[in-house]
Amino acid sequence: MANTKSPETKHVRVDVRTYKGAGVSPGIAVGRALILEKDVGSVYRVPVGDAEVPKEVRRLGEAIEQTRKDLRELKAKVSRTIGDEYASIFDAHAMILGDPTFSDQIVKKIEDEKINAEWALQTVKDELEARFASFEDEYLRDRGADIADVGDSVLKNLLGIAHHDLSEITHDVIILAEDLTPSDTIHFNRRPIVGFATATGGRTSHTSIIAKSLFMPAVIGVPRLTELIDNDELIIVDGYEGTVVVNPTPALVEEYRSRETRHEEHEKKLLENRDLEAITRDGVKLAMLANIELVEELGDALKFGAEGIGLYRSEFLFISKSPGLPNEEDHFEAYCRIAKEMAPHSTVIRTFDLGGKKLARDVIGTKEDNPVLGLRGLRLCMKHRDLFRTQLRAILRASAFGDIKIMFPLVSSVQELRQAKALLRELKGELDLEGKAYDRDIEVGIMIEVPAAAIIADILAQEADFFAIGTNDLIQYSLAIDRGNENVSYLYEPLHPALLRLLKFVIESGRKAGIPVSMCGEMASDPLYAVVLVGLGLERFSMNPSNIPVVKNVIRSVRYKDCKKMVEAALEKRTAQEIEEFIIESVALKFPEGLVPRTT
Ligand code: PEP
Ligand code: MG
Repeated sequence: MANTKSPETKHVRVDVRTYKGAGVSPGIAVGRALILEKDVGSVYRVPVGDAEVPKEVRRLGEAIEQTRKDLRELKAKVSRTIGDEYASIFDAHAMILGDPTFSDQIVKKIEDEKINAEWALQTVKDELEARFASFEDEYLRDRGADIADVGDSVLKNLLGIAHHDLSEITHDVIILAEDLTPSDTIHFNRRPIVGFATATGGRTSHTSIIAKSLFMPAVIGVPRLTELIDNDELIIVDGYEGTVVVNPTPALVEEYRSRETRHEEHEKKLLENRDLEAITRDGVKLAMLANIELVEELGDALKFGAEGIGLYRSEFLFISKSPGLPNEEDHFEAYCRIAKEMAPHSTVIRTFDLGGKKLARDVIGTKEDNPVLGLRGLRLCMKHRDLFRTQLRAILRASAFGDIKIMFPLVSSVQELRQAKALLRELKGELDLEGKAYDRDIEVGIMIEVPAAAIIADILAQEADFFAIGTNDLIQYSLAIDRGNENVSYLYEPLHPALLRLLKFVIESGRKAGIPVSMCGEMASDPLYAVVLVGLGLERFSMNPSNIPVVKNVIRSVRYKDCKKMVEAALEKRTAQEIEEFIIESVALKFPEGLVPRTT
């Protein structure tokens, strides 16, 4: 982390600080810091007008009263079921609630700072917890936990009473948080939020993927970010370089703005290849497909020249409907719209890949110690059969209106694929009985993202109609590193020899069985890795739409034959570093002027 104080610090009140993280979504955003506290729900600091202060105090009172009622009911229930001695725990909580110093402090904060009750409560709770944690006496230290419990209960009730939200803030804001989930991020696609930065996270985490899809500048992995920056400080988030600049001078803001204009001009230039084919210099035609999470991204897919949707992450339909669930018509409408807008190209709908870090707890109610190795992907689809049936019926029905393919996530065995296909057959029978149309030859493919699936790709290729390699998970599982954990992000090596061997085998297995193989992991969108993938024989690249022009240019610059030879030699190397250096050197030797695409 760099912390550069401007030389003028002593003389003027401008204290420019720069913190370094990783840029995961390009662009420049300028706004006031808004720290997101997430202990209970999403707590924002919302300034309120003078006239609204009494209302906030009243809301606090109502929430405290509701919590008191909840406590009484809980106490009665506990004494009925497990006995009076346990119920006395709640007396301690009731005492804190009834203690006027607790509520007085919160009211004072609301009045002094003219802020919403949630924020005032959260801050007082944090202060009290910190004070109690510092006591020598163990009994007193434990009371800190009681205060936290009571504070959380009041906060929950406060959030249930009509409350202030972000739409009331009139200036641009940048969200700062320890971590953000995909479901937090998906709600960021509107003003006043113009960018975000987090302390944790990984490049291929879903939060980063969504930021890119929303064109929202984002930086992740800035250690202690929420301690180093205060609410309301002016910040620049530079998603190109991965920096967060605090208290920039007007001249600095101007400089960043013009940097963004230069990037935009460069992007415009790249778009000139929109209607050109992704074809190597020696005539190998490759397909450029788009990954999308939201139906609203279809416009981008078309704008950047996608030749189809290689991955629609349908779980985001669940996330955007949360806490409700999409019904068959919701699914059907979304899939028809995608298929129609992408026609004559095809659309791969991946059945919902909830679980892991994607909302399973909210939708399905599961809580697991190790969710990434738990009930996610196809396993979760099969367990929650009703949700799965609803989705599969909708996909089948939509297949009558466009070129749609089905893809199952996180397949780890032939058995799982057979079970899912058996369910699909059953649903086809159901639709036949109901006289509903569907594509009888709908293709059914699988994600190759579990090492076991990659290792038996030759067998799976006999029973799947296509493969899509998900390197985000395949790397996570084969190298044993959490894709969202910045502590091990240095080990996230797409050029690891183990991974290249797996990729080679999967691509060859697909070719031998005569089924298409695509890659929809983030690896496919990186220009350097694209050269390697061309050499490995990958024919279909699926990525965030905005990355298509760059990768297409790379493909139009190289010869397949050269890439193949280069990869054969790379596979002899022992480490990811050796491979990367070798690839960079070879590309520089072969193309001394850089990768210059043909213009025709
Ligand atoms: C992958 O794992 O590479 C993939 C594309 O799926 P997701 O990123 O949605 O897990
Ligand atoms: Mg995956």
